[in-house]
Amino acid sequence: MGKNISVSTDFLSGGGHVKVQASAPATIRFSPHDEGDGEWSRVWWHFSVEGINPGEEIRLELDKGGGVSPQVFFSYDQKVWGLTDEGETETIEGKEFFVYKHTVKASRVWFAYDLPYTSEHIDTLLTPLIKKDKFAEVLTLCSSRKNRPNTGFRLNPSQRNLSPKYGIWLQARAHAFESGASWVLHELAKWLVSGEAEAVALRNNALITVVPIVDIDGVSEGRTGKYQKPHDHWMKWGDEPSYWPEVDKIKSGIRELAQKDMADLFIDFHGPGGKSHPYFILPFESELPFVKQRNNRAKFFSCLKAKPLDEQARQRQSMTQIHYSERPWDNTILDSSHEWVTAKANEHSLAFTIEVNMNTPLSTQDGYRSEAITLGKAISTYFVDGYHEK
Ligand SMILES: [Zn+2]
Repeated sequence: MGKNISVSTDFLSGGGHVKVQASAPATIRFSPHDEGDGEWSRVWWHFSVEGINPGEEIRLELDKGGGVSPQVFFSYDQKVWGLTDEGETETIEGKEFFVYKHTVKASRVWFAYDLPYTSEHIDTLLTPLIKKDKFAEVLTLCSSRKNRPNTGFRLNPSQRNLSPKYGIWLQARAHAFESGASWVLHELAKWLVSGEAEAVALRNNALITVVPIVDIDGVSEGRTGKYQKPHDHWMKWGDEPSYWPEVDKIKSGIRELAQKDMADLFIDFHGPGGKSHPYFILPFESELPFVKQRNNRAKFFSCLKAKPLDEQARQRQSMTQIHYSERPWDNTILDSSHEWVTAKANEHSLAFTIEVNMNTPLSTQDGYRSEAITLGKAISTYFVDGYHEK
């Protein structure tokens, strides 16, 4: 019974250190992939287990000390995913673990820190959909440092006689473990090419660039990505040229838009968000360098009905009430993506990092879709109804 249990991370986005601790009861002990810079650099893991008897309960013992998701995802085919029950902290041999228990229903099962999203999702689910739209383009943004193609999309107005007034740049996954960020952008891209009236109206006014996975190497290799050496894909955007070919291409794409006075909206999608609402990370309004940026931010937040992320808001969860969290900003450093865009693009540019809320019971594909559509509709209202001041 259960004598031939094996584990593997040898597949796209498989990661972490995993071993079979015992076969009766079936026990897997594991730790996340570690970029070597503290808690938030030790988050991602994704592995398969084979040789369990269907109906048997498996124990998953996560070595604490990094990011811990209260519930984790399981799948029997890497397509349909479900959430396990919440795990619990246990001290084993003097060491703290977070232990999940799950009754398996097939002899092979995959587990992951959060709902996986890889280049396969782009290639099989998104690219075919975008290709159906004759006004949209599939782009290869660049080759990564490890020669992986980075696929992005450009959406154009769906009527030939319209030239776009606004430029919108949407990207996700500067931090590889933040798979929920790609899911929200994936669902937003699907909504943008849908026939929904608000999506069509937005597209007829805007040139929209979508990059679903910035750190394609980190994601493919099953790494955490955040705080990797020499720096991660969200930080040090002020460095010229960037260490990362993706970041260089993104910066030149935004510069091109800015030269046409069309760097209107930039959103960098991140997780983890914790057990909370989605929220933007941004500089204090008074620290924004341009008056138009302050006015536009206020008008965009009003379209979105966004609220400050205060202590009361942190106690609740949703996928559709977007919040914002203002942080001090040293504008001499130009460190993170949204800070660089705010300072270097146009006087009217809106630039945000958003924390999509991973790790909640609502953080499923449906939940990520509802978050995406909330954002899409607000972006449409903001531009189409003329709130954006150039
Ligand atoms: Zn992040």
